[in-house]
Amino acid sequence: MGAKHYYMDCIFCKIINGDIPNYTVYEDDHVLAFLDIHPHAKGHTVVIPKQHADTIFGLDDEYTQALMLGTQKAMEKIQEALGPEGFNVGWNHNEIAGQAVPHLHVHILPRWKNDGGKNIHAIINNPGNQSVQDIAALFNQ
Ligand code: 5GP
Ligand code: ZN
Repeated sequence: MGAKHYYMDCIFCKIINGDIPNYTVYEDDHVLAFLDIHPHAKGHTVVIPKQHADTIFGLDDEYTQALMLGTQKAMEKIQEALGPEGFNVGWNHNEIAGQAVPHLHVHILPRWKNDGGKNIHAIINNPGNQSVQDIAALFNQ
C-alpha cells in the first residue's frame, strides 16, 4: 500500500512507495519500520506512518494509534532478533528539537549495558524560572 498524501519531495514517502529501498523491520497497512541508515545504536530503527505529516499534529487519529502499535511490533521484532537489554524510544518534533526529515518518525534505540548512552532526560535541562505550580496553573484557566 502506498502513502496517504504522498509528497513527491519527501524521502520517507519515497521509501513507503518503494522508490527508495529500505531494510524493513515491521510493516502493516498503516506503518513502516525500517533500519536507520546512520544508526546510533545496533538495530536503530525508525517507524513512520503511511500518511504524510510533518509532525504528530497533522496526523489522523487512525494513523496515530497505528504508530504506537507499530512501534510495539517493531520493538518486539528487535527484541527477538538482537536481544537488547532496554530501549529509548521517541521522536524529534520540529527542527528546533532536531528533526531533519519532515515526515513524522519514531526512533527506536536499542540499549545494552555499558553502551555509553544516556537517558531521555539528557536531551535538555532548561526548566526555566517558573515553579511547576505556576506552570500547572496555565493548564487550568
Ligand atoms: P531526525 O533527525 O529527522 O529525527 O532523523 C532522521 C533519521 O532518518 C536519521 O537518523 C537518518 O539517519 C535517517 N534517514 C535519513 N534518510 C534516510 C534514508 O534514506 N534511509 C534510511 N534508512 N534512513 C534515513
Ligand atoms: Zn512523507
